[in-house]
Amino acid sequence: MSPIMCKVGCGFFGTEKFDSFCSKCFKARCPEKFQEIASDSASVTPRNKALTRIVNSPGAQEDEPLHDL
Ligand SMILES: [Zn+2]
Repeated sequence: MSPIMCKVGCGFFGTEKFDSFCSKCFKARCPEKFQEIASDSASVTPRNKALTRIVNSPGAQEDEPLHDL
């Protein structure tokens, strides 16, 4: 992966996530979308955890007793 320079040429590195803009220019360009992306990546962990939990439970035996080890 080679670093992308910001589309605007401000000297900062751009990010694919920000459509090849740096976070600063992207924020200046469309602050609403920036907020969306920023808050999205911030809440990824809990959301993924919930998802993993659902995927990981094979049946209804989510609360299997630990005595069996
Ligand atoms: Zn920039």
